[in-house]
Amino acid sequence: MKYQAVIGLEVHVQLLTNSKIFCGCSTKFGAPPNSQTCPVCLGLPGALPVLNKKVVEFAIRAGLATNHSIAPRSVFARKNYFYPDLPKGYQISQYELPICINGHLDIEVEGDTKRIGITRIHMEEDAGKLVHADVPGVGDDSCVDLNRACTPLLEVVSEPDLRSADEAVAYLKKLHQIVVYLGICDGNMEEGSFRCDANVSVMPVGSATFGTRAEIKNVNSFKFVKQAIEYEIERQIELIEDGGKVVQETRLFDPNSGTTRSMRGKEEAHDYRYFPDPDLVPLVISDDWVEDVRLSLPELPVARLARYQAELGLPFYDAEVLTASRELADYFEACLALYPQAKPVANWVMGEVTRGLNDSGLAITACPVTPELLAELLKLIDAGTISNKIAKTVFDEMWQSGKAPAAIVEEKGLVQVSDTGEIERIIDEILAANQGQVEEFRGGKEKVFGFFVGQVMRASKGKANPAVVNDLLLKKLKG
Ligand code: ADP
Ligand code: MG
Ligand code: ZN
Repeated sequence: MKYQAVIGLEVHVQLLTNSKIFCGCSTKFGAPPNSQTCPVCLGLPGALPVLNKKVVEFAIRAGLATNHSIAPRSVFARKNYFYPDLPKGYQISQYELPICINGHLDIEVEGDTKRIGITRIHMEEDAGKLVHADVPGVGDDSCVDLNRACTPLLEVVSEPDLRSADEAVAYLKKLHQIVVYLGICDGNMEEGSFRCDANVSVMPVGSATFGTRAEIKNVNSFKFVKQAIEYEIERQIELIEDGGKVVQETRLFDPNSGTTRSMRGKEEAHDYRYFPDPDLVPLVISDDWVEDVRLSLPELPVARLARYQAELGLPFYDAEVLTASRELADYFEACLALYPQAKPVANWVMGEVTRGLNDSGLAITACPVTPELLAELLKLIDAGTISNKIAKTVFDEMWQSGKAPAAIVEEKGLVQVSDTGEIERIIDEILAANQGQVEEFRGGKEKVFGFFVGQVMRASKGKANPAVVNDLLLKKLKG
């Protein structure tokens, strides 16, 4: 029997607000335990939540960017469960009436575009954190840190439209790119700012009903998502083939072994006893507000990619690399504004700039060669002051010193030699010293031409204008 996998993803997106969703406490990461708390996020009786407007704005942004309808009226609900890091005994979330409904994202799979439905996006608060530690004077202990309690999250729930681990990863990457572009999430998967639960089931190919799903919790990298889903599909198929049944449960992925194991049976929604939170009034969002947010959205990656191809004439590959992050695309455009030739700018950004960033571990926003400096460098090449090759040396020097390219060229005497007299003199010397190769060339072995170019360039310390060198060399060799 052949099997078909079915996958739906639930993604938690931690929002980049300064304060928490229902109180004024800071959301800053890394502060001493419990130092960013107040009666509201400690869950003290009688403390009342007040909704952070920024969270709603961010949710609208996310919703619009992923093609959702924004609900004119949505409701916060209590999701009841007990856990030591949840002092209230419930999490404030949204249930029957979430803020965003019926969205979708288009992903590229093997050259085809596939539309993945998104059921909903809702707002909720995060829980605190249990820290299992060796506490001095106490020994092994579990401590509660409530700094994270009440941190704003969006939960993005996809339809079960994904059919393979690769599709799931493509969807996840696209969603990740969008929330980072929107400036609502830092996208840091290791710190848990963008985490994913994967629901996986299998069914016989052609079946009209889905199989029972297992939910794999909190997978925190694209690579692990792929591994976890692939492992889970295999596990379920083997189980069924052996006459077993998949049970609905929550499983954990272990990156060390690349396997998933059962954590607990999956609760059903009715176990949570959801009900509207009486402390929070229904959230009413005006059309005007939605339109304001829509107008404030940045150009999204899909639109930018299309524009780079259509208006700038860049190949798909370049457009895709340059728009992968908003900062990289902004850098590219800042340089392009000063030196309006898309292809050379693209080549330098994808080449030297990216190489420099990779080698140094710097982010593009901290790139020591600013778009202004890069544009000046490209203008020097255009003007014939330096060759493309020398420009790379100047680039490295700019990276180290942050000096202007013209100053570096001047200081190091790197100005390109285009003076035919001087180049001719070098060529004559090289030809005289290599009579054997001259004979070979004249005997029809044209390959040695490259050898001569190399010699001349070396003798000029890379400063000879390559076009002039080619020209003169050819004349002398043929003549
Ligand atoms: P829960 O809170 O129980 O996890 P949600 O409705 O929040 O339920 O999320 C369910 C997720 O599981 C959705 O992403 C949905 O697409 C996915 N899903 C539902 N049924 C299946 C199935 N049979 N196989 C795979 N995924 C499924
Ligand atoms: Mg869920
Ligand atoms: Zn607080």
